[in-house]
Amino acid sequence: MKVEAQVVLTRCKNRQLYGIRVEKYGNDWKMTWAFPIEERKAASEGYTKVSLKGSFLPSATYPGCPYCQTDTFLVCEQCGKLSCYHEGDTVVTCQWCGNSGMAISKEEVTVTGGDM
Ligand SMILES: [Zn+2]
Ligand SMILES: [Zn+2]
Repeated sequence: MKVEAQVVLTRCKNRQLYGIRVEKYGNDWKMTWAFPIEERKAASEGYTKVSLKGSFLPSATYPGCPYCQTDTFLVCEQCGKLSCYHEGDTVVTCQWCGNSGMAISKEEVTVTGGDM
């Protein structure tokens, strides 16, 4: 069976960009790998056009963010893009647009790669 895999872009705390590789798993997405990526490369690979719906759950071997190692991200309610989340964070600001209304990745969400 062919595995459907995609890459979604995420920003760490100081706007550092990385890609999360996800595999389709029923109605949800399993996070299998994460890697740092340059903005120009992300755009040329088409990662900025990705839009996915479902819950995002880390696989047992998911290494976490390449910068801060978290395995959780938040989805901005305004722009739909992803930012790293750390348990205990009380105020989380979108690293893309600066908005602070965020939904956690383990609920059903729609995420977009979006423009840089
Ligand atoms: Zn991070
Ligand atoms: Zn945003």
